[in-house]
Amino acid sequence: MEKITSLAKRRGFVFQSSEIYGGQNGAWDYGPMGIELKNRIAAAWWKEMTQLHDNIVGLDAAILMHPRTWEASGHVENFTDPLVDCKKCKARFRADMIPEENLAAKKCPECGGELTDTRKFNLMFKTHIGPAEDTASIIYLRPETAQGIYVNYKNIIQSNRMKVPFGIAQIGKAFRNEIVTKNFIFRTCEFEQMEMQYFVKPGTDEEWFDQWRKRRWAYYEKLGVKMDHLRWHQHGPDELAHYAKDAYDIQYLFPMGWRELEGVHNRTDYDLGRHTEYSGKDMQYIDQDNNNERYIPYIIETSAGLTRNLLMILCDAYDEEQVADKGNDDDWRTVLRFHPTLAPVTVAVLPLMKKDGLAEMAQDIRNELKEDYSVDYDQAGAIGRRYRRQDEAGTPFCVTVDYQSKEDGTVTLRFRDSMEQIRVPKAELALRLRQEIKAYKRLK
Ligand code: ATP
Repeated sequence: MEKITSLAKRRGFVFQSSEIYGGQNGAWDYGPMGIELKNRIAAAWWKEMTQLHDNIVGLDAAILMHPRTWEASGHVENFTDPLVDCKKCKARFRADMIPEENLAAKKCPECGGELTDTRKFNLMFKTHIGPAEDTASIIYLRPETAQGIYVNYKNIIQSNRMKVPFGIAQIGKAFRNEIVTKNFIFRTCEFEQMEMQYFVKPGTDEEWFDQWRKRRWAYYEKLGVKMDHLRWHQHGPDELAHYAKDAYDIQYLFPMGWRELEGVHNRTDYDLGRHTEYSGKDMQYIDQDNNNERYIPYIIETSAGLTRNLLMILCDAYDEEQVADKGNDDDWRTVLRFHPTLAPVTVAVLPLMKKDGLAEMAQDIRNELKEDYSVDYDQAGAIGRRYRRQDEAGTPFCVTVDYQSKEDGTVTLRFRDSMEQIRVPKAELALRLRQEIKAYKRLK
């Protein structure tokens, strides 16, 4: 993880928030490469969840919601972690994350000092809206995006004529006052979620739950993720959230071990039932195709962290490869094997030399390609070193303009993963890239 954190900073993926002030715990900034990668991951998910389905639509709800929302959802009462402190070294732990013997003996796992009793700690960030800081003005930063979907479910049925089963997808920020934030961007206080809520008829929920588990698994396969680094984990009775009938996590083998990447949950009619109770509004679905049968739909949720997906994609893509055996520093290369649709830069255009009109020709190619692709241009330094720089940034294709290019109009197309080089007429480049991206298969 140290290598990934340092590469992420060096190449402008992720910076510590407010670094010049010593950093802000639980918050990170996404640099020029990071924002491109994050946007592409979000776009891939959005396409998968909306464009490829006729019955799933999008939403972008506000982060600030009426505080009753969080009473109805159960978050005010239940969204807590068990907290213990060490009286001696003042370290703070989630009680469910330290060895049981330490908890039983009330012994700090770090210094051996005495631990406090376990107490409940609510993870929601609370603030005030308006000028008066009294109980009437309390408002929360949303701890999940899902509730914004539930409170809009009737609006969406009416405005978009949706019929059960249908889904609503949303990507947005969520905030949790996490007790322990470590492992880089894995668990942060401010993060982004990609959630899809699928509304189904009660009784069909188990079938849809299985369907969505299959679809979410296939999605990661399509992205080229190492499938032996993914596994399912079913929630046991002590893990199930207060609203869930069944829940499976997709876990990824991060450098620190197997950890949750995404959850697929059967949330039953809990949320819509509670909103009916707390808002006084009828949240029943009226099935006009079936004698106006009324029911509160069950909800199957797929809930993934966008920022956690970004960490997964970085870890999954990271590779160090020996490419020569000459006893030199550059015998090894660091390469990010991003899927080309996710790579922040799709193609780098490199003139072999700045002189003799090669740079001008390369710039013309850059200008042509940038209509369709995200393009980097680099004319500084030895060509081998420039390839290495692009490998480390995860750029899947490099185009090199050399003297032959001037003679016959062909350029070198170099592939990041195999390092293979072929010659392609420059007029065919854009099309060839499109074909390569579509046909991409991960080699390693
Ligand atoms: P955990 O057990 O890791 O705290 P959770 O089970 O509370 O997570 P959910 O409420 O199911 O997580 O949230 C759905 C997804 O949102 C998670 O799978 C994860 O990818 C992401 N997520 C949740 N909390 C955080 C966080 N603090 N930082 C980054 N991503 C998060």
